[in-house]
Amino acid sequence: MNNKSKDITRPQTSGFSPHILKDTPVQYVKGVGPARAGLLKRLGIETLEDILFYFPRRYEDRKNLKKICDLKCGNQETTLCEVVSAEVITTPRKRMKIFELTVADKTGSLKSKWFNQPYLKKYFIKNAKVILSGVVKGNPYTGIGLEMENPDFELVEGEDKLIHTSRIVPVYKATEGISPKQIRTLIFNTINTYASVIEDYLPEDILRRNDLKSLQWAIKEAHFPEEFTDVNALNRGTAPAHRRLVFDEFFLLELGLALLKKKEIIERGISFTLKNDLVNKFLQGLPFELTNAQKRVLEGIKSDMQKPSPMNRLVHGDVGCGKTVVALVSMLVAVENGYQACLMAPTELLAEQHFINIHGMAESLGLNVALLTSGIKDKPVDDISGGNAQIIIGTHALIQEHVQFKNLGLAIIDEQHRFGVVQRATLRRKGFNPDILIMTATPIPRTLAMTLYGDLDIAVIDELPAGRRPVVTKVFFPSQKDKIYSLIKGELSKGRQVYVVYPLIEESEKLDLKSAIDGAEAFKRIFPERKIGLVHGKMHRDEREAVMAMFKSGDIDMLVATTVIEVGIDVPNASLMLIVHSERFGLAQLHQLRGRIGRGVYDSYCLLMAYPPFSEDARRRLKAMASTGDGFRIAEEDLAIRGPGDFFGTRQSGIPGLKIADIIRDIGVLESARREAFDLIDNKPDLSGHPLLTETLQKKWMGRPELIKS
Ligand code: ADP
Ligand code: MG
Repeated sequence: MNNKSKDITRPQTSGFSPHILKDTPVQYVKGVGPARAGLLKRLGIETLEDILFYFPRRYEDRKNLKKICDLKCGNQETTLCEVVSAEVITTPRKRMKIFELTVADKTGSLKSKWFNQPYLKKYFIKNAKVILSGVVKGNPYTGIGLEMENPDFELVEGEDKLIHTSRIVPVYKATEGISPKQIRTLIFNTINTYASVIEDYLPEDILRRNDLKSLQWAIKEAHFPEEFTDVNALNRGTAPAHRRLVFDEFFLLELGLALLKKKEIIERGISFTLKNDLVNKFLQGLPFELTNAQKRVLEGIKSDMQKPSPMNRLVHGDVGCGKTVVALVSMLVAVENGYQACLMAPTELLAEQHFINIHGMAESLGLNVALLTSGIKDKPVDDISGGNAQIIIGTHALIQEHVQFKNLGLAIIDEQHRFGVVQRATLRRKGFNPDILIMTATPIPRTLAMTLYGDLDIAVIDELPAGRRPVVTKVFFPSQKDKIYSLIKGELSKGRQVYVVYPLIEESEKLDLKSAIDGAEAFKRIFPERKIGLVHGKMHRDEREAVMAMFKSGDIDMLVATTVIEVGIDVPNASLMLIVHSERFGLAQLHQLRGRIGRGVYDSYCLLMAYPPFSEDARRRLKAMASTGDGFRIAEEDLAIRGPGDFFGTRQSGIPGLKIADIIRDIGVLESARREAFDLIDNKPDLSGHPLLTETLQKKWMGRPELIKS
C-alpha cells in the first residue's frame, strides 16, 4: 500500500490543520506548475502562506462602470460593453502581431489593442459581455475615437465571480513571466480554497480591546476588499484590514522583545555595591561638574548595577552631551567591585581615541588599561584573561572566540547602531551575565527608540554641558572657495584648529581616498605656514595614532580626514569643519561629523561644500543641517527623507522584517501593540494557554535563537 506517500504529497481538502499553509508548496494551487513556481519564488513566494501574505502594492477602484460616452481621456476607467469585432493584425514593417478588439455599448464604441498576444482573440466571441479597465486615450493617428492599450479585461459570465474588474481591484508587484493579472487570479484562487484554514492566534480580549477584525477577514479584505471599503484608506494602508495586519506585525515583534526582557530580568547577574572610592576620586579630578542629565542617568545606571539581574540599558544622547564620562564612571563602579569592564567601539580609530583618553585618567587611579583591536600585533590577551587589565578597550576583536576575560562585570558598547543584537549576546557570554550598557548618539526619535531597542531600558542625556554655543552651519558652492579659505585662515590665526573631511563611500573607495590625499596636498600649498595632517582608515595604526595625538596636542593645525573621524574624536580647540562633497553624505553622518566641533567654548563653524547638480534629497539634507543643530529634529527630517526602511538600515539592525507596517504612519498601532504584548508577558510569562500564538511567535523569530530560547 502506498497510502502513506499519498498523504504526504496531497493535502486533504477538508479539515486542514493550519500548518498546511506554511507547509504546502505553491504547486498545490490550481494553475501553478513547476515553471510558475520558479517565477513565484523570485517574488519570495514559496508556500500557500506566502501567497496569502503577498499583499497588493495598491488598489484600483473599478467598481464604477462608465458608459463609453462618459470615458475621459487620460483617466483610468472601467466600462462594461459588448464585443463587436476581434481581429489580429500583423504590422507590415516589424511584423508585430496586434490583437484589436472593438466593443460598444448604446452610447458609443471603443477600441482596445494588445501587442504580441494573438491568442487573446479566441476569448472574445461576438456579442459577449466584457469589462475593460485601462487608461483611455484618443486614437493616436486620427484623433477620433477612444482607445485602450493592454487593458485588463474580464468576460462577464457569472456576475459574482469577477476578479479583475467591476470591484476594488488589488494590483500586485509582478515579475517577468507572470503578470499582475495572473498573480491576482492565483491569490484569488488560494483565498477561495484555503482562507478558511487561517486561525486567529491573537487572544480574544486583545482583539476586542483594540477593535481588531479577525485575521481571516483581514487577509481576504486586504486582497479583495468589500464593495464599500474606502479606496483611499486602502491605498494609504490605513483601512481596517491593514490595521489588523499591522497590529500583528508589531505585536509579534514586541512580544519577542518583551519575552527577551523578561528572560533577562529572571536571570541572575552581578549585584555590585557602591563603594565610591575610585568613582569619587575620579569625579574630584574632573575639570568640570557633571550636568544634571549626566547625574540623573548615572543614578539610573548605578541602581541597575546594584540589582541582581543583569543591566540592559541604552544611554542615548546627542553628540557632545558627554557620554564618555558616564561610561567611565560606570566602569569604575565595576572595577571597584573587583570586576573587569570593557568598552567596545565600532572602529579602530575610535577605540584608539577612547584608549588614549581613558588610559591617562585610569593610570592616575592606579588602574591598568588594555587596548585590543585587530590591528594590534602583541594582543594583550594574557592581561585580559589573567585579570591584569581591569579596563579593556577594543573593537569587535573583543568578542572573538579566543578572547577570554577573567571576570567581565560590565560591557559597554559605544555607538550601538553598528552592532546588532547578535553581537550584544556574544559579548554577554564573555562573562557571567555581565551588565550591559549601550551608548548611542544616533538620534532616534523618542517614539521609535522603543521599537528598535524594545528590550532595553532607555535613558536619555538631554542636556549639553553649559557654555556650548550652536555651530554656525552654512552651505557653500565651489565658486566660493576663496570665502572658505579666508574663513579657515581666520580661525587658524585665532589659534583654533580645523577639520577638513572628505567622503569615503565604499563603491569608489580608491578614488575617494585619493581625493583626501590630494586635498591634504592642496591645503599644504594654500597654507604653507601651517602644519597639516592626514588620517584615513587605510593608514597604519601607529602612524594614525601619532597624527591624532599631534592634532590633539595642537602640534597640527589642520586635520584632513576621511569619515574615520565621524565619532569619538574630542578636540575642544577645533572650531571649524569643512565637509567636502557634503551632498554625498547622509544626514545622520553629517550631524555626527559636525559634533566634532563646538566642543569647547569657542564660536564654531561648519562649512558644507556642495557640488551641484545634486538631488532633491541632498538639498533637503543640507537645508536641515543649516537650519538646526538639534539631533532629534535632524533625525526626524532624516526619517522623513529616507523613509523608515532605509533609516533603520538593513535587516542587521535586529528588527525582524516589518512587511506592511510603517513605523511612522502606524505609530499609534505600535504603541497599542507594545502595551498589549508587554501586559501579556507580565501576566503569562510562558504564554500558557496560547499555543497557536507561541507557535506563530517562534516562527516569526526563527533564525534568531539567541532571542527566543526558553
Ligand atoms: P559624546 O556624548 O559625544 O560622546 P563626549 O563624552 O565625547 O561626548 O564629551 C564631549 C566633550 O564634553 C568632552 O570634551 C568632554 O570632556 C566634555 N564634557 C563632558 N561632560 C561635561 C560637563 N559636564 N561639563 C563640561 N564639559 C563636559
Ligand atoms: Mg562618544
